[in-house]
Amino acid sequence: MAYDKITVPGSGEKISFANGAMQVPDNPILLFIEGDGIGYDIMTASKRIWDAAVEKAYGGRRQISWMEVYAGEKAAGLYAGDYMPEETFAAFREYKVGIKGPLTTPVGGGFRSLNVTLRQVLDLYSCVRPVRWYNGVPSPLKQPQDIDVVIFRENTEDTYAGIEFESGTPENAKLAKFLREEMNATNFFADAGLGIKPISPFGSKRLIRAAIQYAIDRKRSSVTLVHKGNIQKFTEGAFQKWGYELAAEEFPEATISWDEVAAKHGGEVPDGKIVVQDTIADIMFQKMLLRPREHDVIATTNLNGDYLSDALAAEVGGVGIAPGANIGDEIALFEATHGTAPKYTNLDMVNPGSLLFSGVMMLEHLDWFDAAELITSAYEKTIDQRYVTYDFARQMDNATKVPTSEFATRIIENMNGA
Ligand code: NAP
Repeated sequence: MAYDKITVPGSGEKISFANGAMQVPDNPILLFIEGDGIGYDIMTASKRIWDAAVEKAYGGRRQISWMEVYAGEKAAGLYAGDYMPEETFAAFREYKVGIKGPLTTPVGGGFRSLNVTLRQVLDLYSCVRPVRWYNGVPSPLKQPQDIDVVIFRENTEDTYAGIEFESGTPENAKLAKFLREEMNATNFFADAGLGIKPISPFGSKRLIRAAIQYAIDRKRSSVTLVHKGNIQKFTEGAFQKWGYELAAEEFPEATISWDEVAAKHGGEVPDGKIVVQDTIADIMFQKMLLRPREHDVIATTNLNGDYLSDALAAEVGGVGIAPGANIGDEIALFEATHGTAPKYTNLDMVNPGSLLFSGVMMLEHLDWFDAAELITSAYEKTIDQRYVTYDFARQMDNATKVPTSEFATRIIENMNGA
């Protein structure tokens, strides 16, 4: 389609789908949203690294054609104050895969979070957060190397659906009256703010399906359903129940429930099977500190996933390095998980790790694992040489603090064997 402010690159082809399977050309057009605040610094540095890795891994046979699309402050400047232009959504629908830096949500009435808007409009229902430790990265744990999980957080339902009624409003009074008089639900104080937590079989199952499929594709050993079903039986408990049902109905060959492992296989997982198990959300935080090896892929509801993602990211180095993606049936949007850190704007100072590793996830999503692996090992080598950005430098002994751009240059040099 024709775009107004977006320039389609002269070379490169679209990613497409045939019978549900993604078709990736050797020269795909990938979208990027630069992001506000530190976005320019981390996007510039990361693109250099991604391009260098693709060049090194495939010697010119493969190449990315970047296409800039706009959101946030840069969009507002170009589109007469529109922070989330319609043609950005259109570009994602047409080109399918892209990556974004952090975006400012303007303060003041009338603005929804741009990130939430992107997820909802494009129906990106899985928020995927791999959490693993990279050699040398400062961590508060004694054995951070034991953590290697991938969190699938449901992105569209739960208390995030925004169905809330403020205390003191007529809508709140109407709902309270309905609950007390017609539903015999009286266990709340007068004037309580009220919120609704919708959790559906459709929303739960498509998320859990994506998590199990990921576990199969990436040869992972287990999928843990994390829920608070002991208290919230028909929402969180139902999520757990639907998860087991889905595994048995749609993946009977690939998966086995933990109950079946215990009852029929003496606690030994049969070869080649992915265990589907479940854990109450609060215990999961404890387990991820004390026995993280017992978990691999995690599928969970929106609010649990929000807490869990940030808590686990802190265990392996914090927001400066945690990558993420929002994925739907066809469209995938990879993103830095931190914000715009406005005080560091254009200081060439911050850690590009979160965006960089979101790009590594994007390369893996394209099945370009060789390029992804090159970045991971060059990154670890650079940290090992103790060249780091300010955030890691303040947690490490004998580290050399380098600007974002120099950090990128050192990773590229390490990738090229310098
Ligand atoms: P933030 O931008 O994530 O920054 C909070 C702190 O985290 C920074 O001051 C810095 O800590 C550290 N940090 C963040 N990114 C870093 C990086 N790449 N390298 C090193 N350290 C990093 O959170 P915020 O200040 O609460 O939010 C600022 C704006 O970002 C808001 O407008 C918010 O709406 C937006 N936001 C956007 C997203 C998104 O686009 N996905 C997510 C969250 C927030 P130190 O100062 O201690 O070094």
